[in-house]
Amino acid sequence: MSVPFFDLKKQYQSLQAEIAPALEKFLPQQAFILGPTVESFEKEMASYCQAPFALGVSSGTDALLMALEALEIGPGDEVIVPAFTFYCTASVVTRRGATPIFVDVDLHDYNILPAAIEAAITSRTKAIIPVHLFGQIVQIDAIQKIAIKHSLPIIEDSAQGIGAEYKGKRAGSFGRFGAFSFFPTKNLGAFGDGGALTFASVHDQEHCKILRMHGSRIRYQHEEIGGCFRLDALQALVLEIKLRHLEKWQEKRRQNAAFYNQALQEIGDLILPVENPNCRHVYHQYVIRTTKREALKVHLTCLGIGSEVYYPIPVPHQKSMEYLGHRYGDFPHSEQLSEEVLALPIFPELEPSQLEETVKGIQSFFL
Ligand SMILES: *Cc1c(COP(=O)(O)O)cnc(C)c1O
Repeated sequence: MSVPFFDLKKQYQSLQAEIAPALEKFLPQQAFILGPTVESFEKEMASYCQAPFALGVSSGTDALLMALEALEIGPGDEVIVPAFTFYCTASVVTRRGATPIFVDVDLHDYNILPAAIEAAITSRTKAIIPVHLFGQIVQIDAIQKIAIKHSLPIIEDSAQGIGAEYKGKRAGSFGRFGAFSFFPTKNLGAFGDGGALTFASVHDQEHCKILRMHGSRIRYQHEEIGGCFRLDALQALVLEIKLRHLEKWQEKRRQNAAFYNQALQEIGDLILPVENPNCRHVYHQYVIRTTKREALKVHLTCLGIGSEVYYPIPVPHQKSMEYLGHRYGDFPHSEQLSEEVLALPIFPELEPSQLEETVKGIQSFFL
């Protein structure tokens, strides 16, 4: 039996009876851009995230970029980001002409270190982008304290954190902005690209609505630069249906993680993910660590068991970031993680036998 790393077909099969008729009703209208379908999803999205306002946008990357544009962040400005994250958390800063200031992450939960944030603040700092990596909320109490002390806005990169909770509050409800991705393999995935922003204030929501339409409030009058940052109505339709199932899927991910946590104890030098106090981890990824990562990955591949490395290169060490002049040794935790992490299959539709197969595959490697 093979264990794929993820299986989108299986989820679609379970939803076909709901989605197909909705599409049949939607398609004859040929109304693809914004409108009531997108607005309806935005209401549901805000409600799920416990945020006052939400907007559907073109991708998680664009959500981050729009938040930076809304804050008028540009040349001469600095934005603090973790060194260990998906590339675009930082590249959006560069794309605005500003400078990403990388800080290291915690070896314990892989999230940005609050103390390192505070140490990196200068008079040019204009925002902080903490990332709820792998589906667990960052140390938000400490980060909020720092943000308030220095009057800095927080943009939560919640692309991996939809539904993640700290003290019952969800990702996207802590910062001034929350950025979400509906990339097909995220916990809530569209039939293509898509994203959302959540907002603490209606002012920011209205501003981003204008940015989403080429900086235009009135047709062919452009007050700001903006861009083409709209969420397709078709995607909104699919996402609203899927959102109704999300809690069930989150719980399945958590059950799968609980199974691994139990079954993978004290094997070789494995380090298992931790769930911090007061947190609901939504396991966008279930990431283990071992110094024998490469060999383990090959072993699993030979057994037909999928696994992935998130992320093999810390962002400051990417070629495109060379201009910043960082060296190996600058971000020791991120560098160590990039050599040791391995994500196991965790998607909600995994069969118990597939979970067992994965565990057996790992056990047989360390025998
Ligand atoms: C997926 C992801 C994004 C980007 O989302 P897209 O929708 O692919 O643009 C941003 N940040 C993190 C941490 C992600 O995992």
